[in-house]
Amino acid sequence: LKSIAVMTSGGDSPGMNAAARAVVRTALYEGVKVWGIRDGYHGLLEEDMFEMQSKDVGDIIQRGGTFLGTARCKRWKTPEGRMLGYQHLVDRGIQGLCVIGGDGSLRGASLLSQETGIPIVGLPGTIDNDVWGSDYTIGCDTAANTIIDAINKLRDTASAHRRVIVMEVMGRSSGWLALVSGISGGAEYILVPESPFDLDKICEDMKAAYQEGKRYILVVVAEGAGSGQEIGDYIAQKTELDTRVSVLGHIQRGGSPSVIDRVRASQLGEQAALALISGLSDIVFGFSKGRVVSIDLHDSVNNKKKLDPEYLHLAKVLF
Ligand code: ATP
Repeated sequence: LKSIAVMTSGGDSPGMNAAARAVVRTALYEGVKVWGIRDGYHGLLEEDMFEMQSKDVGDIIQRGGTFLGTARCKRWKTPEGRMLGYQHLVDRGIQGLCVIGGDGSLRGASLLSQETGIPIVGLPGTIDNDVWGSDYTIGCDTAANTIIDAINKLRDTASAHRRVIVMEVMGRSSGWLALVSGISGGAEYILVPESPFDLDKICEDMKAAYQEGKRYILVVVAEGAGSGQEIGDYIAQKTELDTRVSVLGHIQRGGSPSVIDRVRASQLGEQAALALISGLSDIVFGFSKGRVVSIDLHDSVNNKKKLDPEYLHLAKVLF
């Protein structure tokens, strides 16, 4: 192809900038025109796009968020909306599109490709690490590190006061962030939507642990497993232990991307641009066992990723 475009869509994640930058610079290196679309599918429908030069992606690799902007777009869920977006690409001679976003964004991309045949390559951009076929999504490493930072601080104060700390982290349908940050933060309990738990039994165990001299207990809850506040209230009422709840919220989305997110996002962006330029389509690039892999776009959106059973086991063993 001779002209491609790139957008970021859905929730922002640290490293999206590095990915978009790599798409743009790889395309230019290969002598291909590259357009930036602002604010995801919304911007495509509003024709908010511009042809990009190398300097347009200067000074962004270290920034969180996405310089292209992102948005949720209801009209993209209709065939008419997607057809209009396709027309706006065709009007500019754009022959292929790279969509960087979470599973919803990739689903929108998969429908566009099926309905119009335009070549599409997706990159998994979400802190949730919930895209099927890939061990990794752009931003998950930075978000996990942000959570660990908070856990370290909470542990200091929890220990001083002999408290139970319940910390709610992001993950509506995926417990990956809770699981890895719980393991690396040394949490006693990690509650995730993928695996059932018995809160009454946990409360009994907590009381017994305190009687044996335990100084504090950390519970990490993925938002999809329940509200941190409600779980904290329940624990306080059942155990009568001094219990505090912390909801980390949108802080998890921000921050300068980690080295891992910058390098991996750059690798994925390069592969996405090269694939589009050579006419490939319906691919998501991700990582498996530390290496870049290509995944079928439709398989990726039609399957639900499972939590790594080895991590789940480790969390049990190290408790
Ligand atoms: P995150 O996981 O970080 O929230 P996401 O990409 O999953 O990111 P969504 O809000 O689910 O975020 O999706 C972003 C946009 O993708 C939506 O606003 C919509 O424009 C498009 N989209 C999502 N689901 C669909 C769908 N089923 N059909 C068509 N388009 C969709």
